[in-house]
Amino acid sequence: MRVHNFSAGPAQLPLPVLERAASELTDWRGSGMSVLEVSHRGADFIECAADAEAALRSVAGVPDDYRVLFLAGGATGQFSAIPANLTARGDAVAFLNTGQWSAKAIKEARRAGAVVEVIADEAASSYTTTPDPGSFAVPDGARYLHYTPNETIGGVEFPYIPDAGDVPLVADLSSAYLSRPLDVSRFGVIYGGAQKNLGPAGLAVVIVREDLLGRPRADVPAIWDWTVMAAKDSMLNTPPTFSIYLLGLILHWIEDTGGLAAMGERNAAKAQRLYGAIDASDFYANPVETRSRSRMNIPFTLADPALDADFLAGAEAAGLTNLKGHRSVGGMRASIYNAMDMDGVAALIDYMTEFERTKA
Ligand code: PMP
Repeated sequence: MRVHNFSAGPAQLPLPVLERAASELTDWRGSGMSVLEVSHRGADFIECAADAEAALRSVAGVPDDYRVLFLAGGATGQFSAIPANLTARGDAVAFLNTGQWSAKAIKEARRAGAVVEVIADEAASSYTTTPDPGSFAVPDGARYLHYTPNETIGGVEFPYIPDAGDVPLVADLSSAYLSRPLDVSRFGVIYGGAQKNLGPAGLAVVIVREDLLGRPRADVPAIWDWTVMAAKDSMLNTPPTFSIYLLGLILHWIEDTGGLAAMGERNAAKAQRLYGAIDASDFYANPVETRSRSRMNIPFTLADPALDADFLAGAEAAGLTNLKGHRSVGGMRASIYNAMDMDGVAALIDYMTEFERTKA
């Protein structure tokens, strides 16, 4: 029995992908071995990784002058890799701070010796807002502008791509990767952990404009050096092979279900329906300003927090799982990534309506 899994990550994956992986787990490509057991340097796996990259390029519309890297260490590894590849110690960098993940990225950039200027800070709104497009300016000399298009904990999503002028724009797309069409050419670097929309945890998918390679610090460990990794096709060492394999399956599933345009429409419809139900009720509330509401992570509170435990227990019994909000904000959070279909959202709304009718 499959449940509707609203986890923020690792998150629900598409059933056809899981079934395909299960069906070929013990004998992959007639090798008599699973993909978990083959060499990353063998012809089969090299082809598998190349296919995942080609599918990513095609699905996401990655221009030819960008490199795609499959790296271990998740998005957090890239919090450190970004300053190591794009700055010298003491260089200035600019950040938009819209939530806990922005804040973590800022902390790591500082630890790496970058001089961080936060040019828009939404902490005063308890991270329920994004800055107005015209309200910040990238300072002269900044090596990049970093932002988090979708904040997974706060459920805050930018309704626009920030204008960084000639400065490279760096985006932590972890919780919105491949959720709708995106103009990659606006970015210097896009990166994110895979465990929401791209597959299993541990893998970071980095898309970097070629002219940003070739300037790593002399002391950056090879494992974090994008230039080395690009030269080695992400195989300096043993890469997270199973995650790359599964990423490929997910990309083909996206192609088979209409590509990013169709995905974006489905995601917008799902989010609109859930926000609609929250807004129509006096019992449920979402704290985020309307224009910055996330399509992927939807936090909501109950009018009476004393009912939270009841709500969660009833949801679990109804096959709606992982709805507890992040420990730092409380309440509930429904993460409705690509693999969550409208049936799951409808089942959640039915449950919420019934809970309100009987308990409110
Ligand atoms: N950035 C964002 C926006 C995230 O949601 C997460 C994980 N939830 C991370 C970074 C950290 O990712 P990882 O655990 O893969 O390092």
